[in-house]
Amino acid sequence: MRVLLALLLSSAAFASETMRIAVGPDSSKVVLEGDALRVGADSDEASYEPFSAAKVTLSLAAGKLQVEGAPSPSPALRFRSGEDGAGIIQVNGVRVRGDVVVLFGKTQLAAVNVLPLEDYLVGVLGSEMPKSFPPEALKAQAVAARTYALNKKLEQYGQPYHLGSSVISQVYKGLDVEDPRTREAVESTRGQVMTFQLQPIEAYFHASCGGRTETGLDALGRDLPYLQAVDCPCGRLATSHWTLNLKPADLKPLGAAKGGAIKVQGRSSTGRARRVEVGTRSMDAVTFRERIGYMKLKSLNFEIEKSRDGWTLEGSGFGHGAGMCQWGARVYAEKGWDYRKILQHYYPGTELQTLYE
Ligand SMILES: [Zn+2]
Repeated sequence: MRVLLALLLSSAAFASETMRIAVGPDSSKVVLEGDALRVGADSDEASYEPFSAAKVTLSLAAGKLQVEGAPSPSPALRFRSGEDGAGIIQVNGVRVRGDVVVLFGKTQLAAVNVLPLEDYLVGVLGSEMPKSFPPEALKAQAVAARTYALNKKLEQYGQPYHLGSSVISQVYKGLDVEDPRTREAVESTRGQVMTFQLQPIEAYFHASCGGRTETGLDALGRDLPYLQAVDCPCGRLATSHWTLNLKPADLKPLGAAKGGAIKVQGRSSTGRARRVEVGTRSMDAVTFRERIGYMKLKSLNFEIEKSRDGWTLEGSGFGHGAGMCQWGARVYAEKGWDYRKILQHYYPGTELQTLYE
């Protein structure tokens, strides 16, 4: 990976490097719409022929790509709008800039948006952080998202796509979430990434930690020197705290026997649940949160009390807790910290580097 980064750093073409983002989950059918659609092979150097319609349906038959019901000349097709590709394409209901490649993914069709990294980041920022956050918090988010994307790109080099577009990777909703404020945050930090030993770091981030971030090891099984628990001012915010009432029926997805209790069996150094006992079953707390639902059980930082008809969970924070805390970044930005200081706080021991200008 170090060699790859060196290659990228020495490449003059790096500034025009593109990201390949899977838009939506794989499916049996992909519909693309756009003005003056053109089609070609999946390569930056391909020539693009005009396509006969403003809408195209791609499907699968016996594992082979079909265009409007007829076999495709190649296993992957790349579409763009307009001769220079500057137009907009709607794919799976999302409007995007750049090209869209449709190819046979693992078992279904994947629609992959190929676009400049910096344009991708504007779409990520509008989906991952409220646009009303202070400029320095948005800039910190832009650098974290760029770093995360480049790290994934190096890891997935040569694969059909580098990242998905859901919360599992970084949320990306195309150009409809773009805003002058997010574009400004991306442009004013252009090419800047956080590195550790000259490599882009695994720049995880989350909505709110509740007062102290979690180590990468405890949150995600990533034992990295720059993902350590640090104090955070978001714990003072009312939005960081939540209550969840669970009834016996809510425990069904956990496969627990009726009449069981819920108990936290072990906690990490920051007080987050590590294992949870549900009835006679003991499970990893991450699995417990996944089964209850990530949106419902917002974090693993909670206490449990028996209530009249179930349990009351009092908790704080939203997300896995590793890396940069977005609400904490907001508080620091309001206090006058710039984005460099915010990033140094949440990713200690890393360096801010400009890979291209
Ligand atoms: Zn926080």
